[in-house]
Amino acid sequence: MGMAKVWVVPEIQDQKLKKISLEMINLARRLGEVEAFLIGDGVSALAAELGNYGVSKVIVAEQADLKTYTTAKYARVLAEGIKREQPEIVLIGNTATGLDLAPRVAQRVGAGQISDVIDYVEGNFIRPIYAGKAFQKVSPAAYPLIVTVRPNVFPVAEATGGTAVVEKAEVSLTSDDLRVLVREVVRQVSSRPELTEADIIVSGGRAMKSGENFRILEELADVLGAAVGASRAAVDAGWRPHQDQVGQTGKTVSPTLYIAAGISGAIQHLAGMSGSKVIVAINKDPEANIFKVADYGIVGDLFEVIPLLTAECKRLRNVEQAG
Ligand SMILES: Cc1cc2nc3c(=O)[nH]c(=O)nc-3n(C[C@H](O)[C@H](O)[C@H](O)COP(=O)(O)OP(=O)(O)OC[C@H]3O[C@@H](n4cnc5c(N)ncnc54)[C@H](O)[C@@H]3O)c2cc1C
Repeated sequence: MGMAKVWVVPEIQDQKLKKISLEMINLARRLGEVEAFLIGDGVSALAAELGNYGVSKVIVAEQADLKTYTTAKYARVLAEGIKREQPEIVLIGNTATGLDLAPRVAQRVGAGQISDVIDYVEGNFIRPIYAGKAFQKVSPAAYPLIVTVRPNVFPVAEATGGTAVVEKAEVSLTSDDLRVLVREVVRQVSSRPELTEADIIVSGGRAMKSGENFRILEELADVLGAAVGASRAAVDAGWRPHQDQVGQTGKTVSPTLYIAAGISGAIQHLAGMSGSKVIVAINKDPEANIFKVADYGIVGDLFEVIPLLTAECKRLRNVEQAG
C-alpha cells in the first residue's frame, strides 16, 4: 500500500481532546497520511490543535444534535463520512464509547475490525488474546479497516507545529437516529483521575475486608495522584462501584505504575492490568499468582505495608517540594 489515508476519530470531553486522541495520532503517523474526523458540537476549535499534532486535514461533523454521544447518531455520521471520503484505516479508541461505536460503523461500511491494538510492527497490528496470555499479529487483508486502540499504550503524539485544512462534513440525521435523547450527563464527582487515563493506579482486592478500609488505599492514591481500582471480589462485595473494576469483565488499564494490594492475581484480573509498565504487588501469600507478573513484590500484611508506603511517599514528596 502506498501512503494510506488514516483517520483518527478523536474522543472529546468538555470540549477538550482526551489523551487517547493524541495517542491515536501517534499510531496514525506511523501508518500514513493522518486526517481526523471530529464529531460534536462547538468542537471546530479543536481542529487547530489537531493540526499542531500532525493531522493534515480535519473533517468536522458539527451540529447541536451531536453534542452528546449516542450510538445511532455517531454511527450514522461516521459511517457516511467513511463512505464518502474512503479512508483506508480508521482509528477509534478502545474505550467504552469507542467499543460501542466501532463495530456498528464497521458493519455499516463493510469493514473488518481489529480490536484492542497495542502495537504495530512491520505491517502487523498486535493485540492481546486469551486474556493477555498470548499476542496475535493481524495484517490487514482489505480496506477500509476499523482499528480500536488501547488507551495508555502509545505515547502521546509530539507537536509538529503544523496546520490542518478544515472541512465541514454534511450531517443528515434521521428521526430514527434521534430516538435516543441524552437529557443529562451525571458525572461522578472525584478529585482522582479516571481509571483508564490514570498514570498510577492503586487497586484493592478481597483482602481489604470492607469498603471503609479502602480509605487507606485512597490516602496512598491521593499522595501519588493515582486512581483507585478494585478486583471483582471487592466490587461483588459492594465495597467499590463496578466502574472501578479492573479485569476481563471490568476495565483494561495500562498505567505506568499499578499497585495491587491483597489481590491474588486471577487470570481474569491479570487480563485487565498485565499491560501495566511497572507492577507492585502486596500480598501475605508468597505463592500468590500476582507475584508472577509483578516487577516488585512485598510479602506482608497490606494493613501494615500500605500506611508505611503512604508515609514514605509523603516524605519523599515533601523532600521534592522543599528541594
Ligand atoms: C467470567 C469471569 C470474569 C471475571 N472477571 C473479573 C474481573 O474483571 N476482574 C477481577 O478482578 N476478577 C474477575 N473475575 C474473578 C476472578 O476469577 C477472581 O475471583 C477475583 O479476581 C479474585 O479477587 P481477589 O484477588 O481480590 O480475591 P482473592 O482471590 O480472594 O485474593 C485475595 C488475596 O489477598 C491476599 N491477602 C489476604 N489478606 C491479606 C492481607 N491482610 N494483606 C495482604 N494480602 C492479603 C490473599 O493471600 C489473596 O491472595 C472473573 C471471574 C470469572 C469467572
